[in-house]
Order: sequence, then C-alpha cells, then structure tokens
Amino acid sequence: MTRVAKASVSLLALAVLKPNLEVSLSHLKASFSSQSSSSCRSLTELSEEERLFQSSIRRFAAEVIAPQVRQMDEEQKYATGLIQKMAELGLMGIEVPEELGGAGGSFFDSILAVEAISAVDASVALVVDIQNTLCVNSLRRWGTEAQQHQWLPQMAEGMICSYALSEAGSGSDAFAMETRAQRTETGYRLNGRKLWISNAREAGVFLVFANLNPDAGYRGITAFLVQAGTPGLTVGRKEDKMGIRASSTCEVIFEDCDVHTANLFGEEGKGYKIAIEVLNEGRIGIGAQMLGLAQGAWNHAARYAQQRKQFGKPIAEFQAVQFTLAEMATEIEAARLMVYNAARRKDAGLPFVTEAAMTKYFVSQVAERVASQCVEIFGGNGYVRDYPAEKFYRDAKIGKIYEGTSNMQLATIAKQLLSHPVSLQDR
Ligand SMILES: Cc1cc2nc3c(=O)[nH]c(=O)nc-3n(C[C@H](O)[C@H](O)[C@H](O)COP(=O)(O)OP(=O)(O)OC[C@H]3O[C@@H](n4cnc5c(N)ncnc54)[C@H](O)[C@@H]3O)c2cc1C
Repeated sequence: MTRVAKASVSLLALAVLKPNLEVSLSHLKASFSSQSSSSCRSLTELSEEERLFQSSIRRFAAEVIAPQVRQMDEEQKYATGLIQKMAELGLMGIEVPEELGGAGGSFFDSILAVEAISAVDASVALVVDIQNTLCVNSLRRWGTEAQQHQWLPQMAEGMICSYALSEAGSGSDAFAMETRAQRTETGYRLNGRKLWISNAREAGVFLVFANLNPDAGYRGITAFLVQAGTPGLTVGRKEDKMGIRASSTCEVIFEDCDVHTANLFGEEGKGYKIAIEVLNEGRIGIGAQMLGLAQGAWNHAARYAQQRKQFGKPIAEFQAVQFTLAEMATEIEAARLMVYNAARRKDAGLPFVTEAAMTKYFVSQVAERVASQCVEIFGGNGYVRDYPAEKFYRDAKIGKIYEGTSNMQLATIAKQLLSHPVSLQDR
C-alpha cells in the first residue's frame, strides 16, 4: 500500500471513528513521511512532520483510547478493534517500509508514538512498543527477504508479534534458558516453557529464543519465528498483574513444536546477539513509555490542583503544591532529553547502548516518583479507581523490571564506561 493510500485509509478510519476530528489528509501524509530532521536545533524541537505525527497520535489517544482505559484495565484486555484501528493509523508498522505496507517512519517516530500513547495508557503503548522497537526492528535487521515479505506486511496490518526470551529460571540471566531446539529433517523441534510473554494471547507470531547447542553455552542460542497456532505451541496461564493490565502476559509452552528451516531467524548460534542488540534498542522504547506515563500523570495532577479547592482556594495556589509540580516537570524534562537523545543517536547510527541503559534506568525512576506525587496531589482521590492517579502509579512500577531490571541497566552502564576509553563527555 502506498503512503498516500495508507494516509487515506487512516483518514477514513478516523473520520468513521470520530467525525468531529479535524484530521486533514495532508497532516496524515506528512505524518507518515516522517523522518528525523537534521536541522533541529534542540533535542526536543520536532520537525514539522514529527510534530504532525505526534499531534495526530495524541488526538487519537485522547479521543479513542482515553474513554476505554478504565474498562481495559478492569477487564484485563485491549478493547475490541483497538489494535486494528492503530494498525490503520500505521502504528503497528511504523518502521515497516512503505512498499511492504508500513508507514516508512524512523525509530524516533516509534518513540514519539509510544510516548504519546503512554500519556493516556501505558498498556496500550506496550503493544506498539514491542511491535515496533523489538519485532519490526529485528525483522528489518536480521530477517531474510522472504521473512520480511511474509511477516512485515501482516504486522503492519495489525498482526501482533511477541518477543519470547524469558523463562521461569532465566530472567536477568536470560542466556541460562532451558528451552531447547533440535535439528530435524525439515527444520527444528522446539521444547520448553517461556514465561512473562507480553501480548501472547493476541499474538500472531512469536520471536522465540532456544538453545540449539547447550554445550556451546550462550553461543548455542538461536532465534526462530513461530506462527501462533503451530502444533506444539500453546499459550498458557495469563498473569494477574499489578499494572499494565490490558496487556496479556502469559506462559508460552513448546512441546515438540516443529518448525521449518525457513523459520530460523538469523544464523544458528547467533540468537544471543539478536536478543541483546534488540533489547538495547527496546530500552529506549521503555524509556519513552515511562516518559509518556510521567507526562500523563503530571497533566492530570496539574489539572486537578487547579480545580480542587481547600482553605477557600485551589490547592495549586499553595507554594508546596506548586513546587511539587515544578519538580515533577523538571524531572520529566530531563527524562525527555535522555529519551530523545538516545533515539536520535540510534537513528543517526551513533553509539547508543550506554545512553539507552541510562535512559531506562533514570526515566523509570522519574515515572515512579512522578506517579507517586500525582497520587498525593489527588489526596484521597488518588487512592481510588474513580480517578486516573492510582493506575499511573501501578503502571509505573514495571519500568524498573522488564527489558532488564534497574540493576542490569547499571551493570551495562558500568561495563560500557569502564571498558571504553572514550568517556561520554567526549562523544
Ligand atoms: C509484565 C511483564 C511483562 C514482560 N514481558 C516480557 C516479554 O514480552 N518477553 C520476555 O522475554 N520477557 C518479558 N518479561 C520478563 C522480564 O524481562 C523479566 O521479568 C526481567 O528481565 C527480570 O527477570 P526476573 O523476573 O527473572 O527477575 P530476576 O532476574 O530473578 O531478578 C530479581 C532481582 O534480582 C536482581 N538481580 C538479578 N541478577 C542480578 C545481578 N547479577 N546483579 C544485581 N542484581 C541482580 C534483579 O535486579 C532483581 O531486582 C516481562 C515481565 C513482566 C513482569
């Protein structure tokens, strides 16, 4: 589908969804031709195309996602048709090339999308994040031409891809996985159990990591693309989580699951490299998720502080509340600079691993602090489900855990800085 056709579909979808939305075709066209502009003078200054892309997603999040947030959280599932609507807007294949039906955008565009959606619902943003920063990203980099032509168009049209690395016994130590692959006459046989796999219930395809040669240790780890419904693949128990509840998190079980040689992803024994390198990029996405969440919490806190009256005046007129809001905003600004810098470095082909780890480490702290302060500004109303504050707080906690815990980020930062002769300040 061409870019213009894609934009038309998006426009149509929005017009049907919300006739009062003022979205012009030119806006959408511009949105989907978004590329980072080298003429930007500051990190947070967006090109015209990036700004239009961002504002169209913000509008979609406010008009379409926001009214369904509470119900999705309570029912622990995405609203019917929501993924499809996001696909129609190009959000399920942001970096998929236009000739394969995608939006032809940049990694930075994916980051802008995750940030904008997270300000309304970090759960919904998670599916956009994993789809784009982990799955599309790795397919474009390591997928064969045949795999790209098979999967990327389907993903751009809304087929969800899940990333299946973790297991019960291997989280931070991901390469200690026990899932095994054995060669067969036609391909490979997978056996093992993956745990914590996001969006597994809804996934159409899984990027799975298994060890083909345990004697070689982590150098036996090999990646596979496995279609949902393949005999021997079962999606198991769904976790009952504290936060990001609309996103399903499940066990994925492989019992004599036979896949063809064509399902091998990358080279045999190179799965560890794929896992590490794509997670380095994914961490910027989690930074964007936590940044958006913090901004969303701040927006609600500021609005509430201006409306809620105590002692005869809005609580926003008390200096203590003003200072709290000012401090929260300052932290969010610092977080945004880190996220945008890491993403722009990645797009520019500059080293970004240290920046990505620092970003996830710092921004997840900011999100937790800001969401906590948001609860306090709401007072008693911050503690009940009728108001949005408590959900931001619950959703924030995951930022320090998945795609590498905070300790793992610190380990990466220390390793990078101590082993590289060029310090950050000289880059
Ligand atoms: C909601 C949710 C969604 C997820 N989605 C996915 C997904 O889609 N795909 C996927 O593959 N995985 C997913 N995960 C798994 C996630 O990446 C792991 O939970 C995470 O990597 C931590 O692993 P663990 O839970 O085994 O904790 P552990 O590794 O057991 O860590 C427990 C604690 O020990 C600390 N620790 C461990 N080792 C060290 C060390 N060497 N030095 C210092 N401290 C250490 C950790 O920092 C942590 O505080 C998800 C998890 C959750 C909760």
